[in-house]
Amino acid sequence: MKDVNAENIEFLGSGALAPVKKWGAKWSLWAVHLVTSCCGVELAHAYASGYDAERWGTLNFGMMRQTNLIIVEGTITKKMARALRITWEQMPDPKFVILIGACGIEGGLFWNSYHITRPWKIVPVDYFVPGCPPTPEGLISAVRALQKKIERGEARTTVDFKEADLAKILGTEAGKERKPPKPPLKIAEKPEIKIEPKEVDWEFGNQLVDKLRGKIPYAEVFTTNVNRIYIKTNAKFYKKVAKALESEGFDHVKSINVIDVLHENKFIVECSVSSYSVKELMPVIVTFAAEIDRNNPRIPSLTDIWLSADYQEREMHDFFGVWFEGNPNMGQKFLIAPEVETPLRKDFKLEEPSYVLEESK
Ligand code: SF4
Repeated sequence: MKDVNAENIEFLGSGALAPVKKWGAKWSLWAVHLVTSCCGVELAHAYASGYDAERWGTLNFGMMRQTNLIIVEGTITKKMARALRITWEQMPDPKFVILIGACGIEGGLFWNSYHITRPWKIVPVDYFVPGCPPTPEGLISAVRALQKKIERGEARTTVDFKEADLAKILGTEAGKERKPPKPPLKIAEKPEIKIEPKEVDWEFGNQLVDKLRGKIPYAEVFTTNVNRIYIKTNAKFYKKVAKALESEGFDHVKSINVIDVLHENKFIVECSVSSYSVKELMPVIVTFAAEIDRNNPRIPSLTDIWLSADYQEREMHDFFGVWFEGNPNMGQKFLIAPEVETPLRKDFKLEEPSYVLEESK
């Protein structure tokens, strides 16, 4: 065991200037900026105007060589472990560590994750602040506790700390490729897609449904909730339904979605519309849907009825490969990675991730 803080203790508590040194260290806890996860928001909260932690002489600072405190904020991943260790090693003595967040203590909600470390194995910790996230008050209490510890002359880590062997801690050999464990996914092979009529106490909606049934007798029209109407149709009548809705005052497309029903070799294309111009229709959303063949997924475009369909159709084309006939932008790729084909289809093969730990110097 090597007590890496032995020199700190001597420095702060030795000589005639010991009280001055302790006083100076107590009121000059400068924390290095090392925000590693969402706990960092609580750090920002603690140091912002509401709590103003700077009142206690603690201040976040950007240069690690001019800081003497690390506030480890939650998760430290294997990739980040070296950065944490290097930062700590670059800081001048005497230096201190406060660790906040459940993730930093025992992994928190990532307790069984393949990439999580226990930061207290990488740097010696003076105070732990539990919580997910911990409160700003908790962090400030830890700073105050550390100050008291410095004042009492006990400014040393409370754990005996060995020199960290990162390769051992990270459980991997440098330079060797590793694959993360597979997540325990459970996928229902034949998920049920259920859209059912529901009788609702909605007079305007029931009248609207009757009216639509008269206009589009070839489709199934029903309410699913207050302000929600569903229309089941097919590719042949899809556009006719759209025109009937437009003539009722539905003037824009809210969304177009595709549901991939792999086990039945079909897609369901759903379009939801509403109105900005007819007051009674404003809260109403009508969704009309058509099933199409998954091997030849084609359906008419609605861009000549509602311009707002354009973006959504392009997106669904890129994600699922559905061809919206008549949309002038079909065939263009708007994805950030245009070489990727239909990434949201259920049979899309994901690339297997792997990682390599760099040689630690
Ligand atoms: S403890 Fe909670 S808030 Fe903090 S890093 Fe982990 S998940 Fe985020």
